[in-house]
Amino acid sequence: MDLSGRVALVTGSSRGIGRAVALELAAHGALVAVNYAGNDAAAEETAAAVRAAGSQALLVKADVANQEQVDNMVKSVLSAYGRLDILVNNAGVTRDNLLPRIREEDWDTVLNVNLKGAYNCTKASVRPMLKARWGRIISISSVVGLAGNPGQANYAASKAGLLGFTKSVAREVGSRGITVNAVAPGYIETEMTALLPEDNKNALLGQVALGRLGKPEEVAAAVAFLAGGAAGYITGQVIVVDGGMIS
Ligand code: NAP
Repeated sequence: MDLSGRVALVTGSSRGIGRAVALELAAHGALVAVNYAGNDAAAEETAAAVRAAGSQALLVKADVANQEQVDNMVKSVLSAYGRLDILVNNAGVTRDNLLPRIREEDWDTVLNVNLKGAYNCTKASVRPMLKARWGRIISISSVVGLAGNPGQANYAASKAGLLGFTKSVAREVGSRGITVNAVAPGYIETEMTALLPEDNKNALLGQVALGRLGKPEEVAAAVAFLAGGAAGYITGQVIVVDGGMIS
């Protein structure tokens, strides 16, 4: 797969799955804009690793839930590199609780970052892709958006929403050479899942056919496939990367 000359914006790539995606795309030659919310040190580490892989990195700090910040972020990518070919909507948060205990602000935060963030970033990024008549938009959903999970009604709603968003936008922009897909990871080893209580982790692991947690790099491989030329006739789809958890 050759992504040389392509410019990718990966939201939430200071850590976890986003960082692995940034490194995988860079390994295939893409220049990478590393978006993050507040963790400057972690974002610098991702950028340094992208450069060490022989590519270029641009740090773009912005809250994806804020449309003005997202518009400015995309402008700065375009002014640095002159193009934007690949958008990976990866930034995400959890505020887990059983429904009666989900506070309105926790509902809003999760929906605003995970779903409105993808709307903000896709709306801003699709314009240069439409002009170029080429683009790849890949959103990181979750198996929780397909199967549900107690304690995650807000998160599941945001991740299921991303699937409808993906399928609709795919139909809008397909005639302009832009593909729009989602990747739905299962239980992946990152700081997000490190927060889970031990008995929850063991219960989840018991559902995984492969009997182990996934690695961020294993999600990144699916994203890179969708970003590359070999996936040019795949759009509106969801690739589940869950070690056989919900299938
Ligand atoms: P993580 O380790 O917690 O990293 C989250 C990333 O998102 C960080 O880079 C963080 O930036 C960024 N971020 C958070 N809020 C943001 C905002 N408002 N604007 C911009 N960036 C923001 O998470 P992860 O486990 O890698 O998850 C990445 C994605 O995969 C998420 O969408 C998650 O829902 C999804 N996912 C994860 C799993 C899993 O098992 N881990 C499973 C299914 C789906 P800072 O470093 O600056 O805070």
